[in-house]
Amino acid sequence: MKTDHHNGTPRIVPRPEHIITRANIAETALKVLYRLRAAGFESYLVGGGVRDLLLGREPKDFDIATDAHPDEVRALFRNCRLIGRRFRLAHVHFGREIIEVATFRGSHDGAGEGAAGDGMILRDNVYGTLEEDAWRRDFSINSLYYDIRDFSVVDFTGGLDDLEAGLLRVIGDAGQRYREDPVRMLRAIRFAAKLGFRIHPGSETPIFELGETLEAVPSARLYEEMLKLFLSGHGVASFELLRHYDLFRHLFPMTEACLAQEENGFPHQMVLRGLENTDARVAEGKPVTPAFLFAVLLWEPVRARAEVLQAEGMSEIQALQSAGETVIVLSVRHVALPKRFSLQTREIWVMQARLPRRNGKRAARLLEMPRFRAAYDFLLLRAESGDEALQELAQWWTDFQAVDEESRAALSRNAPADSGDGSGKKRRRRRRRSKKPAAPE
Ligand code: ATP
Ligand code: MG
Repeated sequence: MKTDHHNGTPRIVPRPEHIITRANIAETALKVLYRLRAAGFESYLVGGGVRDLLLGREPKDFDIATDAHPDEVRALFRNCRLIGRRFRLAHVHFGREIIEVATFRGSHDGAGEGAAGDGMILRDNVYGTLEEDAWRRDFSINSLYYDIRDFSVVDFTGGLDDLEAGLLRVIGDAGQRYREDPVRMLRAIRFAAKLGFRIHPGSETPIFELGETLEAVPSARLYEEMLKLFLSGHGVASFELLRHYDLFRHLFPMTEACLAQEENGFPHQMVLRGLENTDARVAEGKPVTPAFLFAVLLWEPVRARAEVLQAEGMSEIQALQSAGETVIVLSVRHVALPKRFSLQTREIWVMQARLPRRNGKRAARLLEMPRFRAAYDFLLLRAESGDEALQELAQWWTDFQAVDEESRAALSRNAPADSGDGSGKKRRRRRRRSKKPAAPE
């Protein structure tokens, strides 16, 4: 077992004793590693790239650590941009591919410069040595370095043992590291979900107490993290872990309130089903969009609010428009959603009131609308999630798209002027789900 004292002697695993081969490292990353080295700098592959290669998985991207300062990195590459306020990083561009190059960073030692009163780190640009860089990273398994000089793997923090044991362990004092940067709690959940790892007991206990600290994180950063949690193929696992650790309510408080009510096991079902579908699409290589994801996550609050407005006399379409706007405004205070997506999200919701109105020429017109496909998928999801009143409507639209023009005309003629109204009042209980999923073992 490793403690967090810095003993200065890393474990070094030579090339023949690990499975990383250059054949599995992107050419572009190798190019950057070699050029830094040729210029006399240290250069290592680090982070998710090393972790995933050691696990025999395909890395999502390649991160590089070096003792070259950002300006020195920029001087070496024509296609290089410096980014970031919190951390200054060099991005080396190769067409669409980006290789991230970070200068070794030192530690802060508590509430020094750059830390806010509550221990949150605002700026983090103290440069350091390789060893210091290893200790300031988030998890031991993310702190393994692949040395381009001799292709060995360098481990200061016990990451290799944890990788073998399937354990996510925060480097240092977990509570303090989460306070410094609450997003690390979301990262713990993301990696646990993605890799099927367990969070080490010492690293998981503080999470239950620190959920509130997420509320100080800029909503734009939470949005970025959300996409990684939910649109990378492990959304269901992410969702269940977020709820298990009681973090979900700090991201989507309105949805959490609906889930907590759970009149008939219904809301939970819709979010889960939606995430299941999303995971399946990612697995098949199909595109996924934040607009649909947020439509799923925020539907219950919108539906509940729209019902109230309708009871007060608004039309269903107006009610969905108004409720959709309000819920988005309230939600983006916590987790941002870029306008181009929130507009689509709201269209998907309003279309739920249009889809039942399909007699005469209406159906053909709806089919031409830009958000039809997403709205139809959303309707299917609602029907699948237990809204039995909608199953017939969903089937009607499925048929309508499958048949030729002539049959479409016949379907339209026979369609009711308005039925299966989108508010889903006639829902029936199907099956109850347990409120909180258990922790994975
Ligand atoms: P992936 O790219 O597969 O999502 P990753 O581990 O590479 O996972 P990145 O966000 O690309 O994640 O970050 C690269 C590395 O930078 C991490 O592996 C970790 O060592 C370090 N890191 C990233 N975010 C933090 C953080 N908030 N606190 C400390 N270290 C971090
Ligand atoms: Mg990475």
